[in-house]
Amino acid sequence: MERKILLAIADGLGDRPCDILDGKTPLEYAKTEHLNYLAEKGSTGIMDLYQAGSPVGTDLGHLILFGYSIDDYPGRGPIEAFGNGMELIGGDVAFRCNFATLDNDMKVIDRRAGRIREGTEELASALNGLEIDGVKVLFKEATEHRAVMVLRGPGLSQAVTDTDPKKEGLPVKPSLGKDNNPTSKYTAVILNKILLEAHQILSKHPVNISREKQGLLPANGILTRGAGMMPNIDKITERLNFKACCVAAESTVLGVARLAGFNILSDESFTGNIDTDIEKKASFAIEALKYNDFVALHYKATDLMGHDNDPLGKVKAIEQFDRMLGLVISSLKQEKMENVVIALAADHSTPCERKEHSGDPVPIVICGKNLRKDNVKCYDEISCANGGLNRIKGADFNRILLDYLEVTPKYGN
Ligand SMILES: [Zn+2]
Repeated sequence: MERKILLAIADGLGDRPCDILDGKTPLEYAKTEHLNYLAEKGSTGIMDLYQAGSPVGTDLGHLILFGYSIDDYPGRGPIEAFGNGMELIGGDVAFRCNFATLDNDMKVIDRRAGRIREGTEELASALNGLEIDGVKVLFKEATEHRAVMVLRGPGLSQAVTDTDPKKEGLPVKPSLGKDNNPTSKYTAVILNKILLEAHQILSKHPVNISREKQGLLPANGILTRGAGMMPNIDKITERLNFKACCVAAESTVLGVARLAGFNILSDESFTGNIDTDIEKKASFAIEALKYNDFVALHYKATDLMGHDNDPLGKVKAIEQFDRMLGLVISSLKQEKMENVVIALAADHSTPCERKEHSGDPVPIVICGKNLRKDNVKCYDEISCANGGLNRIKGADFNRILLDYLEVTPKYGN
């Protein structure tokens, strides 16, 4: 049978027993008939994304779920760049940026340029394509005052310091090499030249002249942080020759998905919170399964509730995730798409009591026609620890899923 994979990811799902939930985890406490149905029909287990006891970020967690290792992690800058729709190549150095208001001596008057919302596209395009000493600048606006800058050219390094002084009233911090490598010093020198040039260009830009006339702060400077170099990694979809799609809203997840070669399906109604449009998400996932071999369906609210230490909110979010899976399961039945393997996972645990990511393993399920099953009947952290998939790592989980697509190499003869 030619199978397809639907991987449903509840962000930060894993948790710990909560007093307010009678000593149960939010996932144990929540009413989740559809998640339990998948657990009962399939194989379950628990998973350490990277290694036991090591918390991971949403970016690395998804990178691993999509088939990469920690050595491939490019840092925040490149992931943000991909999330903004930029295409990076190996050796590019990406920075997260703010548009800021500077005075004539490069002193920061406002780190967010009066929280500018309009005109950043024009400002960004005035910087995009700039070239300094043979290094090309790619520049793209992001939400509000944020932007992403990519430097492209030979011999660049990511080991350069941030130029954001983090405080108003201080001058833009000239970037320095973080080590003695000449490429670091070279990159810092180029970066400083670019920031000066950007200040010149932006100060004269019509958007800023008009802002000043209206009494608004001009976005006439750039502050950079989080330099990261794009490693020489290929898109996993090209390496293994399969088609994949990610249904999500969060730019970090979309960034990792684009880096991995996934197509993107997103919508304004995907809010990244509990009011997200689960009907549309489910229907996008079903549509995507018609044209792709692997579809990732991401749900964010579970993580937010963990960060807010809101166990009852997390229960509600989980029950909404469960309804979304219910819609997926019934649509697949209606459309007679029997070849779809449904997998459940999370990118990390976000226990309410910790309000942060933790190294607790997350529960997993793999459920598909004629695939092995175990005796576990509930999808939760405690039950799944008794499952047939045992305790595995994120890399194992991804490999198991891709083996059902029959795209990974065979070893030996
Ligand atoms: Zn996450």
